[in-house]
Amino acid sequence: MSIKKSILKPDEMAALLKLKFGGKNINSHHKNSNIKKDYNLAYCYDTLDKVSRSFAAVIRQLPEEISDVVCLFYLILRGLDSVEDDMDLSYEDKILLLREFYTKNFERGWKLENVGDKAEYRELLANYDKVIEAFLALDVKYQNIITDICQKMGSGMADFVESKITTLEDYNLYCHYVAGLVGIGLSELFAASEIESKELESKDKLANSMGLFLQKTNIVRDYKEDMDENRIFWPEEVWTLYSPTFEGFSLNPNKSESLSCLNHMVNDALSHATDCLDYLKILTNERAFRFCAIPQVMAIATLAEVYNNQKVFTENVKIRKGLAAKLILSAGSIQEVVKIYKEMASAIAKKIPHGFPNSEETLELVEKINAYCELALAETYKSPEIA
Ligand code: MG
Repeated sequence: MSIKKSILKPDEMAALLKLKFGGKNINSHHKNSNIKKDYNLAYCYDTLDKVSRSFAAVIRQLPEEISDVVCLFYLILRGLDSVEDDMDLSYEDKILLLREFYTKNFERGWKLENVGDKAEYRELLANYDKVIEAFLALDVKYQNIITDICQKMGSGMADFVESKITTLEDYNLYCHYVAGLVGIGLSELFAASEIESKELESKDKLANSMGLFLQKTNIVRDYKEDMDENRIFWPEEVWTLYSPTFEGFSLNPNKSESLSCLNHMVNDALSHATDCLDYLKILTNERAFRFCAIPQVMAIATLAEVYNNQKVFTENVKIRKGLAAKLILSAGSIQEVVKIYKEMASAIAKKIPHGFPNSEETLELVEKINAYCELALAETYKSPEIA
């Protein structure tokens, strides 16, 4: 199967993030000190801007030491993902490369020509020796975490090269490899850098949910784009309940079966929402919080937009620019994020169709999110008085 989906690619947010973080006041120290300090690290930040302007903005606003580490973590996983996404590699070569990729980070001078499905990715792999130098300059504690995640992700991707996503279990496992592990690795990096507490390291289930929530939202939203490129990420066990073919949904976008399947997929993604809030609650560093919270609020807003929306089957559905701007600007505290989740849960509740097979489950899910949010708001408003 062809796998080309990644939480590492949220491109449409770029301009808005620049609006928020691109100002001279935030982390201008990166540009100045990095170029003097290290040519390879400067190359890495430069490449980060090219491969993902959105992530570049949120990564640059992190405190300096962890910003460098996350930049490398991002580029290494981007390199790995570029191997996974290259459809010209033979299965044999790809599987071997995915499994061994983590060892390349220690091979000075290693680089890879003509691999990657976009010019920026090919350039990243062709200059991978510079990434390796910058990686080897990191503290060993960070190298170990990045290596562990890179090994697990590469081996998981390799397992899926020749198989498809049949069951919900496959779906959860694949999303764990490509996205859940990113959440787990970031938690470990934040804890190791001491910008966040050690408690974060023991929250793998929540960190995994953070990644799954983003990945599943992208998978649901990108039905049309993926179908046009012959990629199917929706688990077969789910979509075959509603249509004999995956293309069938795009041919009958307003049929109740099509919308039921879509809502089934949204329900599955929504099941991770409260885990994400539990995770965000633990964070104490405001910059780490924004880094984690911005993609999450964009995801819940996207789910509210795509729920029961037949356009998903025929076009690329996006949230309004104005709404995206509002979300990015307000995702600075747990209270604000909880308010956004509550607002989006109620937007979904208003769209629940009568008499559809998954409507009852959607109602239960949004009520659960709503109850969680009300409790969280009551707690956070009370806490100053207790103190
Ligand atoms: Mg991929």
